[in-house]
Order: sequence, then structure tokens, then C-alpha cells
Amino acid sequence: MYWRLLLLFVGALAYDWKKYEGELKKEWERLLTRGYPETMVYDKGDFNTLADVINPNGAHKNSILWESLVHAREWLAGATLMNILDKMITEYGTDEDVTRYLDNYDFHFIPVMNPDGYKHSWDDERMWRKNRRNNEGSLCFGVDLNRNYDNNWGAASEPETQTVVDYVMGNTNPAWLVDVSMHTYGQYLLTPYGDCSLPPNWDTGLSDVVRLTCLAIEGTYNTRWDCGNSCEVLYASSGGSVDWMMATAGMPYTFVPELRGNGFDVSPSLIPLSFQEMWNGLVAMMNEIMSQNP
Ligand SMILES: [Zn+2]
Repeated sequence: MYWRLLLLFVGALAYDWKKYEGELKKEWERLLTRGYPETMVYDKGDFNTLADVINPNGAHKNSILWESLVHAREWLAGATLMNILDKMITEYGTDEDVTRYLDNYDFHFIPVMNPDGYKHSWDDERMWRKNRRNNEGSLCFGVDLNRNYDNNWGAASEPETQTVVDYVMGNTNPAWLVDVSMHTYGQYLLTPYGDCSLPPNWDTGLSDVVRLTCLAIEGTYNTRWDCGNSCEVLYASSGGSVDWMMATAGMPYTFVPELRGNGFDVSPSLIPLSFQEMWNGLVAMMNEIMSQNP
């Protein structure tokens, strides 16, 4: 059984786990200490390093990227993704969906895209969004990493953005297929392009994937989500990661789920609900993508 699971933790720092009842840390420690299937060689890292989880016997397969916390304050996104990561690692061979996905694709996870901003949101300003760039000569602190990708005016000036760009462009064989970039909040499932000068890219199988993913999410707890092209459903935005992943990195399927909740600082009790509905959505997403790419 050949498969591979890659984890990339972008230079994240030590955290002060004041909120979420240590949920993220608990998940992290569980990932590092629990027993994994012997077929997985787990080169574990910690929050200070890059970490890979690799099966060296695995043949390279097309790649899926799932990431979160490009915006510091969106904690539910990180918690949801950590729960998904936990399921992917621990249920290979027992969960039929997990097994099928890992047999067919390489999965890459980046749970914390914006480590210094994320740390700042725990320690000092709960509502912090950007990274912690000191913009010299300006009173304006930080750069919005999700406006920093090199589509139109996004400059890719920031080390976090450049790390991801280098990582994605350095791993193009086999091809990237999917990027899911988790954000909060508002119950949206958005696809490129956020830059309204670019086409909505709606003439591919993407619209079917969006529709089925949305139905699966909504059906979990009978909620309502708004789903579709980012520019049409929400508002115009340039330099976003999923635009770059599609336009430049050539990924045919890229998505921004804006998860549940009425704000950024939500109760930890939402974590299992968010995990369950997103997992159901990802299953629908993966199944449709697999049927479009037999
Ligand atoms: Zn966001």
C-alpha cells in the first residue's frame, strides 16, 4: 500500500494556550505521541521546525494542500484543520474514505500559515489579522498575507508567502490538484478568482465540486452556506493564496471555506461541529474530484 502524507509547519513558534481550552495543543500533542500505523514513517517536528510525515516507499502521487491560519485571529480554522489532520493520520486502514484518499494522493498540511501573527493573536491582540512585519516609515504594522501573492499587485514580499510559494513551486512533480485554504467566518465556500478582473473560472468541473461540497456541509447540521465564485458571492480581493494557487501554480481546484461562527472569537464548543461539517464537505469534494480525474 503506497501512500504518503506530508506535513509542513511553517516556522511556527511557542504558544501561550490561553483559550480554546488548550484544544489545539492537545491535538498537537496527540499527533506527536499516539501510535501510528507502521506503514507510516513519521518524521515528527514541533512548533519550531518544519515537519514531514512521509512513507519513503510511497510513489509520488498528485498533491492536495490543506492549510489554515493565514489570518492570525481565525482560530477555529486551525482547530478544524488539526482535527482533520488527526483523522487522516489515525484512521488510515480503518476509515474507508481516509484510506482511499491517502492511497491515491499526497496530502500536504500547513496548519499555521502566519506564525508570528498567530502568536500575537494569543499574547497581545486577539483580533490581529496580518503578520508582524514592521513597515518602516509607516504607522501601519503588518502585512495581510492573503493579499501578498503575486497575482496582479500582490508582491510576495513576505517570508511566509515566499516560503509557501517556494514549497509549492518546488514540489510540482507530480502535479498539484487541490488547495483548500480555511478561514473564518460567515459560512461561505468560495472559489477563484477573488480578483474580479479575472474570469470566474466557472466553466470547469469546479462548479459541480462546489455544489456537492456545499450540500454535504449544509446537510450535516441543516445550516445555510453561500457558495460560489468569490468575487460574485462576497467581494473583490487581490493577491489571495487560492487565486495564486490556481493562476500560477496551476491547481484546477482551489477553495476558501469561511467556517461557521458569528465572529472570530468563538466558543471552543464549535470545534467538533466545524470539524464534522467540514469533513463531510471534504469527503464530497474529494469524491467528486476523484470522479472527474479517474
Ligand atoms: Zn481570513
